[in-house]
Formats: sequence, structure tokens, C-alpha cells
Amino acid sequence: RLEVRSLKRRFDEQVVVDDISFAIPEGQVTCLLGPSGCGKSTTLRLIAGVDMQDSGEIFVNGALISDAVRHVPPERREIGLMFQDFALFPHLTVAQNVAFGLSGPKAETRARVDELLARVHMGRHRDSYPHALSGGEQQRVALARALAPRPRILLMDEPFSGLDERLRDDIRDETLALLKDEGTAVLLVTHEPHEAMRMADEILLMRGGKIVQRGAPYNLYNAPVDRQAAAFFSDIN
Ligand code: ATP
Ligand code: MG
Repeated sequence: RLEVRSLKRRFDEQVVVDDISFAIPEGQVTCLLGPSGCGKSTTLRLIAGVDMQDSGEIFVNGALISDAVRHVPPERREIGLMFQDFALFPHLTVAQNVAFGLSGPKAETRARVDELLARVHMGRHRDSYPHALSGGEQQRVALARALAPRPRILLMDEPFSGLDERLRDDIRDETLALLKDEGTAVLLVTHEPHEAMRMADEILLMRGGKIVQRGAPYNLYNAPVDRQAAAFFSDIN
């Protein structure tokens, strides 16, 4: 479970994350949805620990991992990351990429890698190198790599944006099924209402650094908070 309270981040004069609070229970996919520049990626970077808020607190499973003073480093937060350019390590094979964040007995590592590669239908590519894979295949491996260490929280920033339109919906569905199987709490950033509608248990609609509406996808779709929100959702069919 992830909880953030009154998170704020400014760059010079500009308040980019403006007093944001929310919680993501175990096993839930929450989408942070909003137009370009509204502060989505900045929010994710704060939670990941690669940037630091000016004020506000972040908790993982009840434990404070960051406030204005305390700052648990990114690698100790048990938070998985999957960002826009889901770059795999080019000099490592598929299996080595997935095993990268794993420590512990070799047999266990091997079993976890095999389990995940089978789950994303990449078992027969285990010894391939990333350059020999299609975009969709690389994306599947990146998902397996992100989930391998069983992060408590997975942060995803526009993870499907590099993919072919035709592929995108399939990969979204596969990804969602795997996330649900693993029971991972997910915060997924997107600027596409369609993607949020398809994947989210809860949507946080963000604008100008604030969350302007939150709720189940159908609630936001059926009862948008204002005309701007209505216009944003109106392209979905
Ligand atoms: P997009 O959908 O285009 O990815 P976003 O919602 O992820 O947009 P952010 O990347 O969080 O937006 O950026 C929000 C605002 O903060 C932008 O105006 C951006 O220029 C500004 N910003 C982000 N990082 C920095 C930084 N390190 N220094 C100064 N300004 C920054
Ligand atoms: Mg962004």
C-alpha cells in the first residue's frame, strides 16, 4: 500500500505538484491521468525517490519513506519502476535482464525468471538479446523485469507510448492480467483517457499540479467535474 500526503514540489516560481494526497491499496491499479505538463511524471519521481518534495510525506505499507527531512534512497523503497523508455540492458540476454534485480539462491532466481518469462510468453526468447526483439516483446520483458523482485508498488510512466497502436490494447490487457495475478499495487501515469478507463480501478484526474477529480472510471466518465474534464473524456468511444 502506497500513501502520499500533501505532496508539494516547485521548480523556481512554478508549483508543479500542488498539495497532492492519495492512497493505493494492495492489488489496485490507480491511473494518474492528465494533460501534458500537469505534473504526472514529477509526482512519480518523488515517489520513486529520484527527486525530493519540498513538503509532504510518502508512506509504503505504513512506513514513512520520505518527508522534508527523511529520504529513503530509491533502491531501498521496494518500489518498481517502468518508465517511458523501458530500455533493457542491451548487453544482457532476456533472462539476464529479468534476473538483474534478484538476489538470493540461484535456483530461486531461475524459477522466478522462468515463471515470469512463461507468463509473458517470452520463454523461447530467454537467451535472445534485446535488439533482436520487437517493441512489444521488449515491453513484455521489461514488465517481467519490473515485477521480478516482487515490488510492493510498481510505478509506470506511459509504459505503452512507444508501441504500435494495434499492439497497444493487447499489451495493456496482458499487462493488467499479470499485475492482477501478482497483486501489485500500481500507479500508472497516462495522458490517454482511454488507457485509464481500460486499466484503472481508480482514476486520479490531474490538472495544473492538483488532483481535480478522483473515482472509479465510470464515475469520471459519467459525471465529469467540469467542462474541461468532460471535453477530456469526450473522445473515448
Ligand atoms: P507529460 O504528459 O508531457 O509527460 P507530465 O504531466 O509528466 O507531462 P511533468 O514532467 O511532471 O509533466 O512536468 C510538469 C512541469 O514541471 C512542466 O512544466 C515541466 O517543465 C516542469 N519541470 C519538470 N521537471 C523540472 C525540472 N527538473 N526543472 C524545472 N522544471 C521542471
Ligand atoms: Mg510525463
